[in-house]
Amino acid sequence: MQTEKCTSCKAPLSEPGWTKFACPKCGEPIYRCHRCRHQSIPYTCQKCGYEGP
Ligand SMILES: [Zn+2]
Ligand SMILES: [Zn+2]
Repeated sequence: MQTEKCTSCKAPLSEPGWTKFACPKCGEPIYRCHRCRHQSIPYTCQKCGYEGP
């Protein structure tokens, strides 16, 4: 099983509380760790470059 990484900070998603959702533009999976969720760190889609809150 592969360990996913946070799209924002590249931290391994080893702790609970992370979330996964599809990029609004291209549908690529976006992963965010609980820290980036709480701090509202913006993410950038690695596939299409979409930036979102
Ligand atoms: Zn993160
Ligand atoms: Zn995208």
